[in-house]
Amino acid sequence: MDSAIHPGAPRFDADLIRRYGGRGPRYTSYPTALQFHDDVTEVEYRANARASNATGAPLSIYIHIPFCRTLCYYCACNKIVTRNEHRVARYLDNLDREIEMQGELFDAERQVMQMHFGGGTPTYLDTPRLAELIGRLSDAFEFGRANQREFSIEVDPRTVDSRRIAEIADLGFNRLSLGIQDFNPQVQKAVNRMQSVAEIDDLLVAARNNGFRSTSFDLIYGLPHQTRESFEETLRQVVRMRPDRLAVYNYAHLPERFKGQRMIAAETIPSADQKLDILHLTIDHLTDAGYEYVGMDHFALPEDDLVQAQRDGSLQRNFQGYSTYGDCDLIGLGVSAIGSIGSMLAQNSPSTAHYQAMIEDGRLPIVRGIEIDDDDRIRADVIQALMCFDKLDTERFGGEHAIDFHDYFAAEIERLAPLADDGLVSLNEGTIRVTSRGRLLLRSIAMVFDRHLNQTPMRYSKLI
Ligand code: SF4
Repeated sequence: MDSAIHPGAPRFDADLIRRYGGRGPRYTSYPTALQFHDDVTEVEYRANARASNATGAPLSIYIHIPFCRTLCYYCACNKIVTRNEHRVARYLDNLDREIEMQGELFDAERQVMQMHFGGGTPTYLDTPRLAELIGRLSDAFEFGRANQREFSIEVDPRTVDSRRIAEIADLGFNRLSLGIQDFNPQVQKAVNRMQSVAEIDDLLVAARNNGFRSTSFDLIYGLPHQTRESFEETLRQVVRMRPDRLAVYNYAHLPERFKGQRMIAAETIPSADQKLDILHLTIDHLTDAGYEYVGMDHFALPEDDLVQAQRDGSLQRNFQGYSTYGDCDLIGLGVSAIGSIGSMLAQNSPSTAHYQAMIEDGRLPIVRGIEIDDDDRIRADVIQALMCFDKLDTERFGGEHAIDFHDYFAAEIERLAPLADDGLVSLNEGTIRVTSRGRLLLRSIAMVFDRHLNQTPMRYSKLI
């Protein structure tokens, strides 16, 4: 991979963002999930997983806990809002069975170096239940050494206190991701997610006292009643707390697709221009406070592993955004989870009823996916390089992939020309370089290399 000095702060250009910030994939994988089809079933997945043992690659696990106690109105996740213990118990039984079935496919010497509990709300589960789940996972897989592995968990601050943070550390987690979104009480009320600054302060103190290697905050801009001034106050609090990483997402209001969003009155949502203004403010505020822009939505402190990985050329784009464990095969567990093993991307059923029925029938709940061919792999590597390092050395890339880059991508280079004219990329001396203006429009640049894009309807999110 083309290692790089850090590409520098992004430059906000409202006009360019208006022109290029339309719908597009987020490229957490290439091909993206919209290209998945139902020819990939359990049978293909099992064969592919067994074959992948020949590489001896380490493993990464994503595990989806879909339950939430209350509904946040902006939410677009695969979740189940319930307090029904029976539903939770049945899901966990099926998850146990899935862990066992998946564990049987992989050689014991392939250690789990990375694990992420996402949701829904993983901390919906109390500590004994989380401990039981970790126990099942460690029975089925070999965990890497504690000081070398990264085990992270998404935490809904409303479900934990300082004691629980200590318990989560005892279970072996070393990274926390806290869903903050916005500290303003009016905004919180409008999205049905109330949590105070003082509570988050306490949790951060607990996380630091319990040796968490890194904490991450999620924020959302474009929520109802947000203004430049109100979000600036949220940013001030965030910067004071100084989490190691920040993900700042755009709220996409799609009430026809996500029922809960119908609780948000459209007229309370900031306009596209106000959102642009809030995004501009966010970038300036965070970069002035010493955060580095890693790429699409993600910021981190200079000493954080993500920034280090960007500097040393090992950063990877993955389903969680960016990651430092790029050499792993990823196993997806739980409803809707996506795995990436060898040359296959595979997804579990997004319907909990179907997911459970398949497992109760003794089958892995894989319902769709895609076999990655050589062309996909080459394009995936181009997109990775641009999204992780903002730069591609075409000669070196061509040598590594046994292609003549300029021949292979003649049409794409032509399509990049207008982006170069507009100042998003520069093309010279065998290098494609994303400019500081283009850094906020990475996916528009990546889309040029996406062979599948015209074959599927545009069901992607907008930048603004
Ligand atoms: S945002 Fe998180 S906690 Fe809220 S409903 Fe969605 S998954 Fe649940």
